[in-house]
Amino acid sequence: MEANCVSKDFFSLGTVNSIKIYNCDDEELIERAITRVYEIDDLMSAYKLDSDISRLNRNSGKGFIDIHPDTFKVLNRAIEFSQVSSGAFDITIRPLVELWGIGRKKNFIPHEDDINRIKKLVNYKSVVLDKIRCQACLDIPGQAVDLGGIAKGFAADEVKRILLESDIENALINLGGNIVTIGNRPDGRTWQIGIQNPLEVTGSFLGILTVTDKTIVTSGCNERFFMKDGIRYHHILDPRTGMPAKTTALSITAIADCSMDADALTTASFILENGFRGDGLDLVRKLDAQVIIINSDGEVLITDGLKRNFKVRSRCYEKE
Ligand code: ADP
Ligand code: MG
Repeated sequence: MEANCVSKDFFSLGTVNSIKIYNCDDEELIERAITRVYEIDDLMSAYKLDSDISRLNRNSGKGFIDIHPDTFKVLNRAIEFSQVSSGAFDITIRPLVELWGIGRKKNFIPHEDDINRIKKLVNYKSVVLDKIRCQACLDIPGQAVDLGGIAKGFAADEVKRILLESDIENALINLGGNIVTIGNRPDGRTWQIGIQNPLEVTGSFLGILTVTDKTIVTSGCNERFFMKDGIRYHHILDPRTGMPAKTTALSITAIADCSMDADALTTASFILENGFRGDGLDLVRKLDAQVIIINSDGEVLITDGLKRNFKVRSRCYEKE
């Protein structure tokens, strides 16, 4: 390890994460940051029986339950995101996630009747929050919430907060694709973040992004997917159809200040009109974010704000 640098890889939130803090030898600080990620996973995982989210799901149709203020915050932001994305982002997607067996079943396509039946349970308006009591409820029995599209972003923001409170000036956080940069690199140069070419093996970068103090979140339908009859079946589901989002995008990267927002934005963008044009772009503008979209034909789309700090360097081509 480099001098004056603490770094750790760890597993949480269903993925591999890493935190690297420069100009620092405080092992206790990195442990505190990791403990915070574990705490968030314990509260928000839909797979842990005692999490707030599992309790909420078990109590669907039965009234309010107490939740932790962190869970409240993420649920609240998720609902706001559903509103601004006209329901494209919808955390009540869980019954569909289970039906498709995402992360569990291999190459499985549910029966159309089941999709249509389960789809009816998906409706973010059924998540009711009581701010005064810090409680939440799901209106209809069988409904269930999944924070897989937003919780990693919240956790990344929390790690950043903890490091900044300890006056850290240079750090690189990566929670399963949710990257947060603090300051510049320790040598004073700006961070250079490689953007994966979704058409090639992991580690082949399509281009390099130069950033300071930003979060970079990538969501892709090129990792967890299978192909059948020319259709790509992946893990981001369209609440309107109950099917994997129909999109030309293979990967969407958002660059923004808040990782939680960028996380929800990349997920929602798969559903919104190719993520980039029309509704998707409106949302990007509203959040003052920048976006890189890589389409399955190799086309690369970038928002204007990235013209100077994103350089395409592989055989994919750039298009205005
Ligand atoms: P990843 O977790 O692979 O980085 P995302 O941040 O895009 O990718 O999150 C995908 C996860 O979000 C899915 O595995 C599922 O749990 C959840 N999800 C799927 N479709 C939606 C949707 N329309 N709205 C909100 N969450 C979704
Ligand atoms: Mg996401």
